[in-house]
Amino acid sequence: MKPDKSSIVRIDDDQSYLQLAGLCLEHAGDMVLWIGPDARLLYVNDAACRTLEYSRDELLQMTIHDVDPNYPADTWTEKWKKLKTLGSVTVESIHRTKSGREIPVQIKGNYVRCNNQEYNFAFARDVSDLKKAQRELLEANKQTEHINRHLEASIKHANLLARQACGSNQAKSEFLASMSHEIRTPLHAIIGFSDILAQENISPDQKNYVDLITTAGRSLLGLINDILDFSKIEAGKIQLEIVECSLEKILNEVEALLRPAARSKNLQLEILPEKNLPACLRTDPARLRQCLVNLVNNAVKFTQQGYVRIRVSLTKHRGADALRFDVEDTGIGIAPEDQQKIFDVFAQADESTTRKYGGTGLGLAITRQLTLNLGGEISLVSQPGQGSTFTLIIPAGLDVNKQPRLTDYQEYQPKKEPAENKLLGPLDGHILVAEDNPSNQILMNKLLTRMGLRVTLAHDGQQALEKYAAGRFDLILMDMQMPRMNGYEAAAALRRRGHCVPIIAMTASAMKGDREKCIRAGCDDYLAKPIDSQELRKSMENNLNSHPSATPPTSNHHSAPADQSAQDSAPLVSELTDDPDLCVVAEIFVQELPDALEQITAAARRKDYEQLKFLIHSLKGASGSAGYPAVMEKTLALEKQVLAQELEDLQAGLDELNRLCQRVAVKPDA
Ligand code: ADP
Repeated sequence: MKPDKSSIVRIDDDQSYLQLAGLCLEHAGDMVLWIGPDARLLYVNDAACRTLEYSRDELLQMTIHDVDPNYPADTWTEKWKKLKTLGSVTVESIHRTKSGREIPVQIKGNYVRCNNQEYNFAFARDVSDLKKAQRELLEANKQTEHINRHLEASIKHANLLARQACGSNQAKSEFLASMSHEIRTPLHAIIGFSDILAQENISPDQKNYVDLITTAGRSLLGLINDILDFSKIEAGKIQLEIVECSLEKILNEVEALLRPAARSKNLQLEILPEKNLPACLRTDPARLRQCLVNLVNNAVKFTQQGYVRIRVSLTKHRGADALRFDVEDTGIGIAPEDQQKIFDVFAQADESTTRKYGGTGLGLAITRQLTLNLGGEISLVSQPGQGSTFTLIIPAGLDVNKQPRLTDYQEYQPKKEPAENKLLGPLDGHILVAEDNPSNQILMNKLLTRMGLRVTLAHDGQQALEKYAAGRFDLILMDMQMPRMNGYEAAAALRRRGHCVPIIAMTASAMKGDREKCIRAGCDDYLAKPIDSQELRKSMENNLNSHPSATPPTSNHHSAPADQSAQDSAPLVSELTDDPDLCVVAEIFVQELPDALEQITAAARRKDYEQLKFLIHSLKGASGSAGYPAVMEKTLALEKQVLAQELEDLQAGLDELNRLCQRVAVKPDA
């Protein structure tokens, strides 16, 4: 915008100009000081008088040295020269007031020569506020830096703690894995022996106690599995195996697992899939099944009457297709104040739960973590006394519209189990069992001889190699964790030497990838401890059938020294006597021998040749593995006799066996 001409003040005469210029200087906000070459103050304006607290007359008697300590007399000549050369300088300095206050100032000095006189026309500005603000800024910066340093240190510390936490989580998870192994090994013996005891001829009271031991053992095993699972989840070690899988198969497996428990409580267990569900989904089927089993298991556990229903429907989760599983029960329900906490580790709705229903409070914590890992979510609607509905939403992982439909969902039809293990026919074969734990040696010996198999024990991998080289075996059962030489090394060594005998790994370790590790080492199959006797039998049947039976042992068990003939009256000592670990097998054999002989005599008296064949076969296996080749030889001869139905000399043979067994002793002095 152009200035309005009328507003322009025209100064026509020098007098007016001077008057106005003088007024302007007087009223300027900054200090104006005219300084002569001798440093004297020649002119000061109002602002200078006001700021420096002197009257004009006083100031005009003073020099710049009096007000500015940075311009003392001894440096003045040089400074004047510099100003003269440069024409103009801008500096920061200090002006001292009459009362002694020091004011920070910014000065612009201008060298002017006029009428042969030299001047420094100086304009000085009080920068106290500016300096104060700068100081405050500096202080604030320092504070910020300090805080930043602190923050950095805290972040470093937090990172260190996080690393330590990760490390200790890792250590915890490894500790739990090895603890779990240590606990599983004796549990293996507890569950195995109580299974065996349960099949013996015991009183109802004793049967009850044995059932209690089995139940306690199995629930301890469940707890160990849960703790291990949770620690793996916590340590981020759970590896999902996301594959395309059948929804029907998952539902059938859940149903098959839990129908017996529901039936035993007279509860209706219904699976109700909605129409148009996809036949397949892409998820980790084992983990999804684990979540559903946990929920349905709880539903059955906390329901006394009514039903447990699993409704399956399609829904959307985060914009993608998902499956919704509603596990609904008519049980005790959960109070609103407990509905959040039950998803925490070791949390149960109320303290009486463990007493009444058992459990540990880990199931839902695991289920929630697994659901999150699968990309889904879990929620709950419940009313005390009315029942609960747990809802699991799991991403379908594929476009459900492109999938075939799950039509006519078929409820699981339980397969007819073969009646009783006891009634199955005896197996034939010679098994080398490599196992270092004495109670597990006895257990395996017992389980296998009951099946009619002959057993030789080795208590580490090294001994297994030696015994294998010296004998004829149809199969090796190999514990993988043994001292001196472990099962992996022993299996690998056997394969390197070209032996193709079936090797079945046994391990108490529950870590993922164990089976693969065993197979890589050269094993054919894998049994997890505690070993289920049915599984063991199945594995023996499969692996013994696929490999033709080796010829019966000769060198190992048939080379009974001549002085061990039935006529001899010297005690018959076990070959295992010198081995403190295996000696216990002989002790058990000796303890059980009278009973076995009595059963054989009774079967012969009843002319129950089937049973007799079985009993003689069992004694043959047990005597071989307990280190009594003479007894084994005798039983082998008797077995052949019964098989060939040469029954006329049977009694004489049995008498010989009885006489021989009278001499059986664990140690020479026994
Ligand atoms: P656990 O069943 O071993 O105690 P969970 O983590 O599976 O551990 O469950 C935690 C608690 O949640 C249970 O102890 C119980 O109090 C409560 N709960 C879980 N499911 C149900 C259900 N269907 N009905 C009633 N209460 C339940």
